Amino acid sequence: MTFHPEILCPFCGLGCGDIGIDLDDSGIAPRPSGCPQADRLFRRSLSVATDARLAGTPVPADRAVAEAARLLGSARAPLIAGLAADVEGVLAALTLAARIGATVDHERSDALFRNLAVLRRFGWSVTTLAELRNRCDLVLVVGRDPAAAFPRLWERWVAPAPAFVPGGGRSVVFLGGEPLPETVQCLAGQIETQGLDSDPQPDLATLVTRLRTALAGRATDDDRMAELAARLRAARYAVVVWAAGLFEGPQPDLTVEALVRLVRTVDGTTRCAGLPLSGADNLIGANQACTWRTGFPLRTGFQAGAPFHDPDRFDWRERLRNADVTLWISAFRPEAPEFVTGGSVIMLAPPETAVTPEPALFIPVGTPGIDHAGDVFRADSVVALHAGALIDRGLPSVADVIGRMLAALEQSAGTGAETREEAGC
Ligand code: SF4
Repeated sequence: MTFHPEILCPFCGLGCGDIGIDLDDSGIAPRPSGCPQADRLFRRSLSVATDARLAGTPVPADRAVAEAARLLGSARAPLIAGLAADVEGVLAALTLAARIGATVDHERSDALFRNLAVLRRFGWSVTTLAELRNRCDLVLVVGRDPAAAFPRLWERWVAPAPAFVPGGGRSVVFLGGEPLPETVQCLAGQIETQGLDSDPQPDLATLVTRLRTALAGRATDDDRMAELAARLRAARYAVVVWAAGLFEGPQPDLTVEALVRLVRTVDGTTRCAGLPLSGADNLIGANQACTWRTGFPLRTGFQAGAPFHDPDRFDWRERLRNADVTLWISAFRPEAPEFVTGGSVIMLAPPETAVTPEPALFIPVGTPGIDHAGDVFRADSVVALHAGALIDRGLPSVADVIGRMLAALEQSAGTGAETREEAGC
């Protein structure tokens, strides 16, 4: 058995670089990391079925790629979604989308667009995980505990004493959300709560409104909010943390908007910034790559021959209704959401993935950071991380498979042109 220390984790977007991995003849297994996602997703067997499947029947890789190219090349309304791949895989998917006139979106882009909708309207002042860890003396956590999606957030980025705060003290205030889970135990004496002990508990929008009222200096009968407003103003560097994907209710972007305004108010008298968290399965990297390549974020389509962005119409759940062929990409985790489409589905996913119903075509791919090296972005958007390969199971990357599809499309286009030329067309 070989032990690999300090392996980078590519899954949720926090970029923990301290995972210990054991490798033996059966595969890889993580040492307990305190993270349920890493402990589950780093466990991979060397003996997996690496065959592609066409309507459930194993086929050679060349046949699968040719069939994918045929389906995608003849599609009227193709969709490329999931989009859970390393940066190279996403760039390949964008090239394919431009080639066939497809729409692109990431499975987890809801949280991103709840934030982007507000960024577009107001702009915002946000910070990084490193600033949170090193400079922040007051953390205001709004809504459900973000550790539900980012399991080691508190342990890695908040529990350590801040390097640049005199005295090293820090307080963490939870506003709204549900009773605090075990994930916050590492914060020990730093934790306080606002609005968790009322019965009935006010909804999140109400709590944020009360805090903004207190910050504006208007009379409020909520002493706790007046006290919290005073503490925000007295902090050296307050950071407001939220995970918009965990907000419930009909208009979560309005809560994000209220938080952006709150940060702006506090930032007028002391230092304050937001930390909007979204980003599992390289969501942020996919969005960055789409923006570099097209000038637009995700939910961009190439139907008109040039990129066109529509955050509502090009939501993958909407496009699925009309897509005649969907290329679903899910390289990080052996699971795919249940979705219904009247069209054909081509799925690129790890071989362990159990899919029901069986897609028209399943092509197994490797996971970045396990089967091959790859770049992913951290959840705060500012750091690109390089994850190395751990094992060789003979699985191609998403970029490899899509590159072969593009070559097959070019080949068939060339063959078609030659045939037309010979026929005198
Ligand atoms: S918190 Fe996120 S990055 Fe860290 S080990 Fe867990 S899944 Fe990986």
